[in-house]
Amino acid sequence: MELAENLAGIQTRIAAACARAGRDPASVELMAVSKTHPPEAVREVARLGIRLFGESRIQEAKLKIPQCPGNLRWQLIGHLQTNKARDAVQLFEMIQSVDSLHLAAELQKRAEAASKTLGILLEVNVAGESTKFGYRPDQLLIDLPQINAFRRLEIHGLMCMAPYATNPETIRPVFRRCRELARECESLLGAPLPVLSMGMSGDFEVAIEEGSTLVRVGSGIFGDRPPPETSESGFQQSDG
Ligand SMILES: *Cc1c(COP(=O)(O)O)cnc(C)c1O
Repeated sequence: MELAENLAGIQTRIAAACARAGRDPASVELMAVSKTHPPEAVREVARLGIRLFGESRIQEAKLKIPQCPGNLRWQLIGHLQTNKARDAVQLFEMIQSVDSLHLAAELQKRAEAASKTLGILLEVNVAGESTKFGYRPDQLLIDLPQINAFRRLEIHGLMCMAPYATNPETIRPVFRRCRELARECESLLGAPLPVLSMGMSGDFEVAIEEGSTLVRVGSGIFGDRPPPETSESGFQQSDG
């Protein structure tokens, strides 16, 4: 069974990275990123013991989540448009991709209307890549107190995506900067921010060595995603 082997391999590598960094493996949570993959694949990974799943697009999640076991936890990791904030509040326990005060205000409003508390991470674009979403660190520090004042939102920490690199060693400073920024945010708020969501299939080991507490692994578990043009799963949506 391929998924079982993939998952076991990832878990072994997480444990090894923790050992290298002198960290307890229980301090790193594994999220299975199921975007583009059908409910059957989610069910299989759930049977192997994974509870936390990540999706990138609202439309896809809306179709998929109701077809999956009810005891799973879902978090949004892709860019969220404010006009989909209401759906996001219904579907997800946590939005990892909050990248503006405007979006946070909309989530607050929708969570209030739903009488819900919503966990959030603030997404940071540490490397300043124009192709990626996420806060510039200086803007994050400016908006943070206002976001923290939203009663229906609970800031759990930061999320970052490193630039693609064939050698993950070259992006170690990005993860390190993200961890430092989380400490700056903690002292600004006077409250702990325990979650650092850093690391994907290609770079999670370096991210763990730099303090990640949540790794988001897609292709490493599910295999390669189909290119959009040839997807036959019915779960490839383009209107994110
Ligand atoms: C798709 C995605 C991942 C997973 O990427 P893989 O390289 O397949 O592990 C992680 N984080 C975010 C934000 C993503 O969009």
